[in-house]
Amino acid sequence: MKFSDLKLSGRTIKSINAFGYVTPTEVQEKTIDQIVSGTNLMVRSQTGTGKTAAFGIGLIERISEGKTKKALVLVPTRELAVQVCTELRGLGHVSQVKTYAVFGGASIMLQMKDIRKQHEILVATPGRLVDLFKRGKVNLAEFDAIVLDEADHMLDLGFKKEVLWILNKLQSNRLTLLFSATIDGSIRAIADRYLPNSKLVEIGEMKVVSTIKEEKVEAPFTEKFAKLRDVLNENSGKRIMVFVRTKRGVMAIKEKLDNKGHIGVGMIQGNMPQSGRLRVLEKFKEGKLSILIATNVASRGLHIDNVDLIINYDRAEDKETHLHRVGRTGRMGLEGRVVNMHCPDEPPKKQRKTDIRRPRGRGPGGRTGGRSSSSNEKRARRKNSRSRRR
Ligand code: AMP
Repeated sequence: MKFSDLKLSGRTIKSINAFGYVTPTEVQEKTIDQIVSGTNLMVRSQTGTGKTAAFGIGLIERISEGKTKKALVLVPTRELAVQVCTELRGLGHVSQVKTYAVFGGASIMLQMKDIRKQHEILVATPGRLVDLFKRGKVNLAEFDAIVLDEADHMLDLGFKKEVLWILNKLQSNRLTLLFSATIDGSIRAIADRYLPNSKLVEIGEMKVVSTIKEEKVEAPFTEKFAKLRDVLNENSGKRIMVFVRTKRGVMAIKEKLDNKGHIGVGMIQGNMPQSGRLRVLEKFKEGKLSILIATNVASRGLHIDNVDLIINYDRAEDKETHLHRVGRTGRMGLEGRVVNMHCPDEPPKKQRKTDIRRPRGRGPGGRTGGRSSSSNEKRARRKNSRSRRR
């Protein structure tokens, strides 16, 4: 396929050629036409696949055709903001689509002045954008297209609150594109709520990076905890994360390890406030804690990497979650180790009430009508925990 096979105007093709791209990459082939025609997309693709040019070309075409007036690209880091801005400026040169970037760690005064200059695409890190909005320097209601770039990384860095806040301030009738290396439950929940009728595009196989070594440790179910202790003892002094399925499981294991005399054990679970989770994480980073027991839900939104060993005490519920967990180790080409615990005789997990979806009453999906399944699940969980407390 060539760029000229995509439904693009001559000007955009000229821009792309001038920029030096000849053939579209897979993500570009699969998304550009859909972006141009205004389809909300959730795209699973790693960096290095050409995703920036995919949404960049799509947006530039829409802007030069008058289909989009102003587009916002949210990115997790200032490095990425600079990189994306440079690429979009290059691609938009012939079409005269202008891009400007705002990000933390640089002078806000300068950005406040320059942001007034004409531009059709704004690349921004979430924190800085909220700051500029609060100072009255950005009108979020102007944007009729948004890209959430590296959405999983944005959640990892703790930007969920800002991202949702920004999404709520944009025009409701907008184009929304979400790009993420992994698509797990938290990303899906955002897509359910903010990307109506979106299409999923998946690029490449999800793989554990080659520097991560995974091994399976088997034990009878009754000896699972003892086996965990063996693995921890064999690796003492290392930074270890242990993933457990439930909050209660996390608390029980932490208590049992404390009782057995393990030192430097911390936990992160959903009943803890975010400030408490951050405190534990800080201690883990500083080396005051060496073992961190966590549910994957609670560790979402916290930037944890450079972990020497990941122990999956309980198996992840899906492949994406597994990849997200193991991605805490083996960063930047460093060696990482993962131990997957397996008990062939482990009883199956009991089906919780929330797993049973039963339509009730009137309207599509039952009594609650259009309410999303995730809010239903939350309500059901609250109800369950109330009845457990009683
Ligand atoms: P990204 O996934 O956006 O980080 O892009 C990875 C790299 O691929 C960047 O250095 C781009 O300049 C390059 N790239 C993107 N699209 C193309 C293309 N169609 N042909 C050649 N290189 C490309």
